[in-house]
Amino acid sequence: MSPVDAVIIGAGVIGLAVGRALANRGQDVVVIESAPAIGTGTSSRNSGVIHAGLYYPTGSLKARLCVTGRQLLYRYCEAKGIGHRRTGKLILATSDDEVPILEKYLAGAQANGVDDLRWVEPAEVAQLEPELRAVRALLSPSTGIIDSHEYLLALQADLEAKGGQVALNSHVTRVGRTGDGFAIFTSDAVEPAIRCRRLINAAGLHAPGVAATIEGLQRPTIPRQYLARGHYYTLAGRSPFRRLVYPVAETGGLGIHVTLDLAGAARFGPDVQWRQSVDYSFDGDTRRKFTAAIRRYYPALDDKRLQPGYTGIRAKLSGPGEPAADFLIQATPDHRVPGLVNLYGIESPGLTAALAIAEEVAAVL
Ligand SMILES: Cc1cc2nc3c(=O)[nH]c(=O)nc-3n(C[C@H](O)[C@H](O)[C@H](O)COP(=O)(O)OP(=O)(O)OC[C@H]3O[C@@H](n4cnc5c(N)ncnc54)[C@H](O)[C@@H]3O)c2cc1C
Repeated sequence: MSPVDAVIIGAGVIGLAVGRALANRGQDVVVIESAPAIGTGTSSRNSGVIHAGLYYPTGSLKARLCVTGRQLLYRYCEAKGIGHRRTGKLILATSDDEVPILEKYLAGAQANGVDDLRWVEPAEVAQLEPELRAVRALLSPSTGIIDSHEYLLALQADLEAKGGQVALNSHVTRVGRTGDGFAIFTSDAVEPAIRCRRLINAAGLHAPGVAATIEGLQRPTIPRQYLARGHYYTLAGRSPFRRLVYPVAETGGLGIHVTLDLAGAARFGPDVQWRQSVDYSFDGDTRRKFTAAIRRYYPALDDKRLQPGYTGIRAKLSGPGEPAADFLIQATPDHRVPGLVNLYGIESPGLTAALAIAEEVAAVL
């Protein structure tokens, strides 16, 4: 069996974007996915927001790749006809003591090259979104929403148009080393399913677990990962909002915010619940917490309209109470395994940043 140029483990948005970037460079690419379909993990359990890039520390990968990724993504959506909308987003201070937090966002945004934010005073907030209560707000015009499913399908189509392949129902159990690359084992097979010269571990929540099966990878290079589950409630009936609405961020997340889908329906979430394992079950006891958080900025909420939606789990490299960690893109200089890239902690804004992350991975390879 002759080796392919590159195998990517995981057909989420990151694995597919990396596969596409490598296939565009003329490489033979196979994306291996354990599930029977693409994008069934975090890539379909998120807010679907195209982030502007204002929250992340200047100089971090999150800041740089979010801003570049957002620009690439809007262009990609337009070129491919992927459903999206530049809805804009309001970030609210609901009390005077939250205004300095908005001032920090504004300064951070400018330092990150996001130069279109502007202040909105209460009278204008009332005009833009009559149901909201805020003492001041920031408007981010370049924030938007995307149809994640269409995005994933477009990435797969591009990859396949360049001769790449996606192998579904193929769970990678271990990775051996060969003279010039890797041997990938799936399920209980004794023989490798495929050999490759380069390997990209884009297994999302399972990336540290996959890394631990790679022969010769030094264990101390694998970071500790923390799991933070978030719930979403959908709002039955017409959305009272036309824009995305965010309170100030909380530790571990961006606060229980309002996102819209392309049909205009509103949903609220996600909260932050630290978990020990990947468990997507919906904890109905979160309802009171949601109602209280939402009423801070949307006092007229009729909580009977809130319906349990879905959950997603953030792959975090920082634990409760710790400052948010950056994305971690580990290449050969970091772990001494030639041809290997491990992607860890690709939480938000990973959907926005995916095309830029893919370029970064192609460059380090
Ligand atoms: C609650 C929440 C809200 C978010 N909101 C936003 C947002 O609004 N905007 C934004 O930009 N980002 C957002 N994000 C972040 C974004 O969703 C993620 O960064 C992105 O989806 C990560 O994609 P991925 O490909 O790394 O992971 P995944 O989509 O989870 O893909 C990994 C794939 O690897 C496969 N896999 C795992 N192990 C194996 C194995 N052993 N063998 C084969 N395959 C394997 C899995 O089945 C899975 O399909 C949010 C994340 C969360 C959790």
